[in-house]
Amino acid sequence: MAKRDYYEVLGVDRNASPDDLKKAYRKLAMKYHPDRNPDNPAEAEEKFKEASEAYEVLSDPDKKARYDQYGHEGMKSAFGQGGFSWNDFHHQGDVEDIFGDLFSAFFGGGQRQRRGGANRGRDIQIRYRMSLEEAFTGKTEEITYKRAEVCDKCSGSGCKAGTKPSTCQTCRGQGVVRQVRGFFAMETPCPTCSGTGQFIPNPCDACSGKGLIAKEVTIKLEIPSGVDSGMMMRQRGEGEAGARGGERGDLLIRFEVEQHERFNREGSEIYCEEKISFPLAALGGSITVQTLHGEETLKIPAGTANHKVFTLRGKGMPTTTNGKNYGEMHVRVEVEVPKKLSARAKELLEELAQELGDPVRKGEKSLFENLKETFGI
Ligand SMILES: [Zn+2]
Ligand SMILES: [Zn+2]
Repeated sequence: MAKRDYYEVLGVDRNASPDDLKKAYRKLAMKYHPDRNPDNPAEAEEKFKEASEAYEVLSDPDKKARYDQYGHEGMKSAFGQGGFSWNDFHHQGDVEDIFGDLFSAFFGGGQRQRRGGANRGRDIQIRYRMSLEEAFTGKTEEITYKRAEVCDKCSGSGCKAGTKPSTCQTCRGQGVVRQVRGFFAMETPCPTCSGTGQFIPNPCDACSGKGLIAKEVTIKLEIPSGVDSGMMMRQRGEGEAGARGGERGDLLIRFEVEQHERFNREGSEIYCEEKISFPLAALGGSITVQTLHGEETLKIPAGTANHKVFTLRGKGMPTTTNGKNYGEMHVRVEVEVPKKLSARAKELLEELAQELGDPVRKGEKSLFENLKETFGI
């Protein structure tokens, strides 16, 4: 297969700014997120890799200049023998928040090193429920949660004012203990000092020597449009504070989009049902359909069969490839058979049945059974 043009892959033009490139790439990262592509993860990864290659080249001024002049031919020496691989990719940070814990899995695993060691603060995972309408528009939201913060009283040292920590006797300040099991020697964090290497003889009374206290914090979240259930967003450094000056953990937000009473969502597609009367189905006309984008007029052609599906282009959820693209909305019509008829309506329908050459056989079949056959409903 011929290699696609990098600009085409990212869906940007040649004058795209670094910001445009990043935006386009992030949108594709969301689109090819494994949670959104449970049926074809390999294909999604292939597509994401293609986008990552394009982004790697176009976000590097030198590589971009070479590509603009010589095309793919000029890129031959840029990557290794087999072409672009994840080892050539340097922009994980630009999409890491989208992939969260899935990131390392997507990138073949093992590439990302956890920084901060034993003292790194823990990640906090929270669930965030939202309506389909909110997922459609995206939103800015302030969330409040509890996390470990550095103790004000002892500035995180864990020691009472004027006292100092001493060396942990169990690990002799190493923070780890060696355990020999058969042929293997394993190092585990010291159980006495939890890996800090210190013993605190006079603990701070605010934090009991931990150096950390639980605090409620409020942060602002920018939730992009188009998120789906199961998607994760990572807010770097918004997790627990690390002990003894260790790096902060991250906040992981897992989204849950509520089932809508009217709309069924599948990725960027929206499905719904609309009831129409059988005269409308037979004679044709139009109805007003509520969509996430507002009210839309749907033309019903004469002779519309029950359960016919009409498509409203671009009236679905954002595809997240760029802010202006949306999936389709599929409207399945349900032709309504009235439960009660006036004498006049009954008369008209019997006349209609006669006209259509299917006289109502009284006592054998009900009027509605005849109607069903006539309209195929
Ligand atoms: Zn303290
Ligand atoms: Zn120790």
